[in-house]
Parts: sequence; structure tokens; C-alpha cells
Amino acid sequence: MSLVKVQNFINGEFVESAKYLDSFDPSTGEVWAKIPDSDQMDVDNAVMAARNAFLSWSSTPVQERSRILLKVADILESRLDEFAELESHDQGKPVWLTKSMDIPRAVFNFRFFATCALHDLNRSNQMQALDAFNYTIKMPVGVAGLISPWNLPLYLLTFKVAPALICGNTVVAKPSEMTSVTAWKLGEVCNAGGLPPGVLNFVFGTGPSAGEAIVKHPDVPIVSFTGGTVTAVKLRIAAAPFSKKMSLELGGKNPAVIFNDADFEKCVATTVRSSFTNQGEICLCTSRIYVQSGIYQKFLERFVQEAKKLVVGDPKSPDSFMGALISKEHLAKVRGYVDIARQEGATILCGDEPLNLPERNKQGYFMRPTVISEVKDSSRLITEEIFGPVVVVVPFDTMAEVIERANSVKYGLAATVWSSDVSTLHTVSQKLHAGTVWANCWMVRDLNMPFGGMKESGTGRESAKDSIEFFTEEKTICVKL
Ligand code: NAD
Repeated sequence: MSLVKVQNFINGEFVESAKYLDSFDPSTGEVWAKIPDSDQMDVDNAVMAARNAFLSWSSTPVQERSRILLKVADILESRLDEFAELESHDQGKPVWLTKSMDIPRAVFNFRFFATCALHDLNRSNQMQALDAFNYTIKMPVGVAGLISPWNLPLYLLTFKVAPALICGNTVVAKPSEMTSVTAWKLGEVCNAGGLPPGVLNFVFGTGPSAGEAIVKHPDVPIVSFTGGTVTAVKLRIAAAPFSKKMSLELGGKNPAVIFNDADFEKCVATTVRSSFTNQGEICLCTSRIYVQSGIYQKFLERFVQEAKKLVVGDPKSPDSFMGALISKEHLAKVRGYVDIARQEGATILCGDEPLNLPERNKQGYFMRPTVISEVKDSSRLITEEIFGPVVVVVPFDTMAEVIERANSVKYGLAATVWSSDVSTLHTVSQKLHAGTVWANCWMVRDLNMPFGGMKESGTGRESAKDSIEFFTEEKTICVKL
């Protein structure tokens, strides 16, 4: 495959940038794409295009905006295989996963928000005593700045683009510099779907350059960000002087809490998936597994046995459960946590065995599913987000104890609870510090339900209702009768 050259997408056109960055195929370690290293000037141009398009797009009836977004969804779906191949190339995950999860979900994001906004109602209230009548309308906010990460590139980007556009905002978006290719291709889909020029613009490049220019731009009153907790602090500081509306979806350190009476087979199978799907690079992946003492040994043995069976290899192969991690640096960071475990005297139960990779993948950033036990609660393996295929399994005795230990970290994104006792499920779920708790399941997503993090895992929620609320300003109009 020849080198892919990504261009910025501004005002419906693909435009050159002054400088370009290398983008690596994580499964080979080779440069496979060049992406714009955009700066303030590129962002200024994109914001100007979005501002110019705002008046017309925001006054386009929601039914027409919906029709265009549904067309975009149809065209994207018709190119599913091509987008799935590109996403896998760019991110390192298996093609079967981009075909079954990433791209179908991106299509669904457009369909879901394009239709749910049609049924969004306003509020009204009559004040008999004062002889007045109140009602609300929702107005789009303006040019929305959308910044997204590399782990689920098109999936998470479109989870912001679709609600922003259906609400009548125009957009300047920046995906991660490590995974820009499918967003660039989405520009073609939007043009083919009839999205007017300037309504959606993509500026590619790094966080400190293109990202910060979006966050600090005075004509971008609203910013939605998904990424790391440390980066979010920089965004808060950069945006502070402008009083922007902000939504922040951040990191996690998600516990699985497994009681003696859990459905053992279902729990093991799902927890293997929740720990290692997408190389453990999903913000919702399990990374701390607390197992009640009665089944601890049995669980540990079976979990390790199943983890060892997972095939790590060429993302193109349908047999590979896991592909490559996103970058050399990230692989080194994740491996660093295994070194910490070793230094602390923890037990590394699997993950260290050499990989048997095809020749073309020898320089790729691969790592086996790694399971670690005998870890202290104060260890960095328990308290810090690793964001890779490394999980820690530890025992607990009582419900009160496990709730306290599960809640002891600074994150609060997601959790799973496993028990056959309905009271245990509800009691523990209600007490865990997590924006989403899955009881006897994982990653069953209903976009009608609020999604987001507590504590340092984020600010705000995303869903049909929450995203519409975020991407609009609700105004009360009071009429004296
Ligand atoms: P990151 O914070 O490094 O980068 C995210 C995005 O922010 C990228 O587009 C990056 O270029 C940009 N960015 C970086 N510095 C910036 C700055 N100073 N100003 C503006 N933009 C800047 O995160 P990542 O490494 O791409 O993604 C991994 C992180 O994302 C993990 O912590 C993961 O848990 C989190 N995440 C959270 C969710 C969620 O829904 N809560 C979903 C996926 C990923």
C-alpha cells in the first residue's frame, strides 16, 4: 500500500498543510500515513468556515438536518469494509473488531442522534396567578470544538459530531494525531451526503498545536473532549479565561467485583473480554478484578487459562483476538507497569511468554494478555490507569470491604458486579463510585442512558438527552397574557 496523505477538511474541501507528521501502522511499526501538523492558522481557517456556515445550518429545520445525517450514515455503511480496513491499519486493532464494533457504531451514532432529536420536546408552564405562560426553546451554541482520542477513533469522534450537528451547531474537530485517517475519509462521505460546506471541518495534528488552538479560540464557545485526565487539566486551564461550555470524558481504573455466587462460566468469559478486548485499550476495560475468597483460586486459575488462549497477532487475521498497541511509547509505558509489578514482588501469572508473530509484524507493538496477582492496594498497578492488556486479580472477604477498596482510586468511570443475588447486585452497584455499573454483563450500551465519569473520570454526561442538553442552550420565554 502506498503512503496515505491526509489533508485537512475545511469548508468542504481538502486542503494542504504547511507541515506533515508521520503516522505509524502499529502492527508493522512502519510509517503508513502523513498527516497535517496543523497550527493556529489552519484552525483559524476552519473556525472561520464553521462560523460562516453557522447561520444557515442552525436555521435549517431539524428534519432536513436529520435527512442529511441519515444519508451520511447510509453512505458510511455502504463503505463499511473500506473504513474497517483503514481503522485497523491506523489503530492496530483486528479488522474483525473494526467491522463488528467501530464502524457499525459510527454508523449507528449518526442514525441514533439524527432520529432522536426529531422527538425532543420543549417545556411549557402556565402561571395562573400571574396570568403568564412560559415555554422553552433550544438554540445551538455555535462552533463546537471536538477533540477525540486514538482508542476508538471514528466511534468516539462521531459520538460527538452527530449530536453537535443535529442540534444545529457547526464543528471544528481534531482526532488524535495517531489515528486521523478515517476522520479524513469521513469528509468525503459528508460531501457525498450533502452536508453543506463549512458545517463540519477537520483539522489534523497534535494536541499542543492544533488541539490547544481550538480550545483557546475565542469563536469556539463549546468544547467536547474525550481523552486522558492529565490532558483534561490542560484543557480546563486553557479554556478558563473564556468561560466555555465543556464536556470531559476521561480515564478510568475500572473494577470487576465478583462474588462467590456469581455465574462462574459467564463471569470468566465476560471478564476475559472486558479485560482484553481492543488490547485493553477501551476506557471501559476492566483493570482491577476483586474476587471473593471462596472462589478466588478457582477463578484465578481459569482466568489465566483463558487469557493464555487469546491469540495476539496480525490484525488482518480473523484468528487474532488482539492486535497491536497504539505506539512504541505506549507499549513501553504498559510494559513499565509489569516491571513495577516485578519490583514489588507481585506474581506475573501470564503475559511474559515470547510472541510468535509473522515476519511483517515483527516490528509491531504487540503484547500478550498479562495477569498479575499478589498486588498491594497501594501499588501503582491498582491506582493508575494502564490502558493496555494488563489486569490485576486480588481477593476480598466482605461486601463492605470490597466497596471501600473498589472506591479507593481517583477514577470513577465504570465497574462490573457479578452475583446471582439480586440484592447484592443492587446494593453494590448503588455504592460504587462509577458513572456506569454493569451487573452480570459488560459493554451493553444504551445511548439513551447517561454515559460519563465521576471523580477524575470526567465532567458531564453523553446520551440522547444529555448530549442534546450539552450542545444547545435552553431559553425560557415568558409571555404575559
Ligand atoms: P490524550 O489526552 O493524550 O489525547 C486525547 C486528544 O487530546 C488527542 O486528540 C490529543 O491530540 C488531544 N490533546 C492532547 N493535548 C492537548 C492539549 N494540550 N490541548 C488540546 N488537545 C490536546 O488521550 P489519548 O492518549 O488519545 O487517549 C487515551 C485516554 O483517553 C485514556 O486515558 C482513556 O481512558 C481516555 N478515554 C476516555 C474515554 C471516555 O469516554 N471516558 C473514552 C476513550 C478514551
